[in-house]
Amino acid sequence: MSDNNDNINNTTNNDNSNKNNDNYEEVCYICRRPESKAGKMIHIPNNICICSDCMQKTFDSMNNMNLNGTFPNMPNMPYMDMFGFGMPNMPNGDGVPNSQKIKKKKPAEKKKKADNIQTGVFDIKHLPAPHIIKSKLDEYVVGQEFAKKVMSVAVYNHYKRVLSDDIEEDDGIEIEKSNMLMVGPTGCGKTYLVKTLAKILQVPLAITDATSLTEAGYIGDDVESVLSKLLAAADNDVEKAEHGIIFIDEIDKIAKKRNTNSRDVSGESVQQGMLKLLEGSDVEVPVGATSKNAMVPLTTVNTRNILFICGGAFPELEKVIKNRLTKQSSIGFEAELKDKYDKDENILSKVTTEDLREFGMIPEFLGRLPIVFALQAMTEDMLVQILTQPKNAILKQYKKLLALDEVDLKFDDEAVHCIAKKALEKNTGARALRAIIEEFMLDIMYEIPKDDMIGRVTITEDYINHKGSPLIEMRESGEAKILTQRELPEA
Ligand code: ADP
Repeated sequence: MSDNNDNINNTTNNDNSNKNNDNYEEVCYICRRPESKAGKMIHIPNNICICSDCMQKTFDSMNNMNLNGTFPNMPNMPYMDMFGFGMPNMPNGDGVPNSQKIKKKKPAEKKKKADNIQTGVFDIKHLPAPHIIKSKLDEYVVGQEFAKKVMSVAVYNHYKRVLSDDIEEDDGIEIEKSNMLMVGPTGCGKTYLVKTLAKILQVPLAITDATSLTEAGYIGDDVESVLSKLLAAADNDVEKAEHGIIFIDEIDKIAKKRNTNSRDVSGESVQQGMLKLLEGSDVEVPVGATSKNAMVPLTTVNTRNILFICGGAFPELEKVIKNRLTKQSSIGFEAELKDKYDKDENILSKVTTEDLREFGMIPEFLGRLPIVFALQAMTEDMLVQILTQPKNAILKQYKKLLALDEVDLKFDDEAVHCIAKKALEKNTGARALRAIIEEFMLDIMYEIPKDDMIGRVTITEDYINHKGSPLIEMRESGEAKILTQRELPEA
């Protein structure tokens, strides 16, 4: 039989010289296990790879084949295909698209010295210090000083731990993971902070929504699907993914359901399911799909060095915190008035794990997220800064767009404050800004390119309030001229 295999091998090795695929592992056409798991592959015509186990099974079943030509012991489809009967369309020569292939692991080097150790982009020597990470965050994210500080330190410690993990030290001290839990109202920048952080550190990031997760076996995504996303973000490079960040949004939606008699498949069970991921374990992950049943290759990802950041708005958590605070101080001389905390806008910053437990998060879950902090709700001043200050501030983007038409776009201070006020009313944090601006900028972007002579446009508060028109200055004379309603329709 071995002769047989060798023959097959030789005939097809040449066809199989797809250079682009050199970085990817080969995957068994039948059991879908990659080379690293199933062992060396045997190549057969049509660029198909089969692991030796499956090849053996095939020959066994051919020996058992009865006179009708059917295989008694197993579903025979793949084996038939393998020999050219009813061959399905091959995406790229070997039956497996690149999105389902796993990058080959680099040969393990002995990592002894700190200088040699790298996680993707930075090595231990160049790991940015917390103050540098924060100053980078400052360039993009407005306000949220405390959150930025906590995150910078946590991320710094996390990667220091990851890197020192690879250095063999025997002092017995093991640094714990710095998984985080962010509490903050919608639109205050939770996702934006994490995205910016991943960009600064140049590590792969997967963002996922806890609402789509359910207990394994129920309709919805399994908890492990978050790892498939991270793997895809890391270009199917397992090593890179193992140093990545996973952000799970809307984590408050998997709080334990109260007063329910049915099985809580999208609440407490999801929290239970996430425990082993947060802690660090080897997980079988489907490559190129989010379900293990999708007949795609599986690979093993270790979550020990993946940083998990959870975020949620936790509505009604304020009440829980207020109750705790007033209860604490309702007895004795230091008793305080019940409504003392009613006007405290940033009551969320007083959050403790006890409050989150009361909210419905299970203690084991909270125990694996040691860093808990709150983000501030947006204020008018913060919104004004978001509009004007960050590197890619929205107003700067519009200015650049019009500058390409050689028109100078300006915004009055009052106009900027007016936009911020309107956004505050919508109660969706900084998210509301874009919609408001789009609304009144549409006419400007439509009308201005009509006239080449326009040199400067100033957006005024009246224009935003639909009470007037923007100030237009013509290029030639430099004289200011207010357009009439007819010339430029109101927004
Ligand atoms: P959430 O807290 O609901 O996750 P996001 O992070 O998605 O909110 O914020 C929505 C958008 O608002 C972001 O894409 C970003 O442009 C803007 N934004 C929110 N907060 C800030 C901030 N502090 N600084 C700068 N931009 C912000």
